[in-house]
Amino acid sequence: MAKYTGPVCKLCRREGAKLFLKGDRCYGRRCAMEGSAIPPGQHGGARKKATPYSVQLREKQKAKRAYGLLEKQFHMYYEKAEKMRGITGENMFVLIERRLDNVVYRMGIGSSRAQSRQIVNHRHITVNGNTVDIPSYLVKTGDIIAIKETKREKPIFVELKGMKLNNLPKWLTFDTTTLSGQIIALPTRADLDLTISEHMIVELYSK
Ligand code: SF4
Repeated sequence: MAKYTGPVCKLCRREGAKLFLKGDRCYGRRCAMEGSAIPPGQHGGARKKATPYSVQLREKQKAKRAYGLLEKQFHMYYEKAEKMRGITGENMFVLIERRLDNVVYRMGIGSSRAQSRQIVNHRHITVNGNTVDIPSYLVKTGDIIAIKETKREKPIFVELKGMKLNNLPKWLTFDTTTLSGQIIALPTRADLDLTISEHMIVELYSK
């Protein structure tokens, strides 16, 4: 599957849930999911009978789209999680949460996961003092994530200085004066910011 470049609000309407793909706009009245959003397409409003398969498929598509992952990447996390101890669905999302692009988003550096991925790709982020430009890089406990010193005067980062961040998850910290943060623990299932039934995704993939 190629990278999706169409309107992202359409994806939320398709999944019937806010996926928070557009940064600040997602929290305001201009969000397309405010009011009566119907699925896209000519027959979007038509009633369709949901089958167990279609429910599982939609759940998988919702999660994949929220994290901006392609099918192959998303499936790879399932395969990795399956080999780990514990509950496959939970392990899968813990792995995805540990991606560097997601961490940059959760620290409030990027306003969406897509923007955060671009920030990483453009070599603006360091992990333990070294530049890392791989969005799928998995962070670990104790890692120091920072905005590269030479990039701190960019308007997007100047805006961040001194800002009060309200929604920081408890597994990481971020200081807007030093523009750096730390992974203080690995995320758990309870730390996800999306409503996802991961068991449905596991059921779908294990068929
Ligand atoms: Fe668009 Fe964000 Fe609203 Fe989704 S949550 S419909 S991406 S504005």
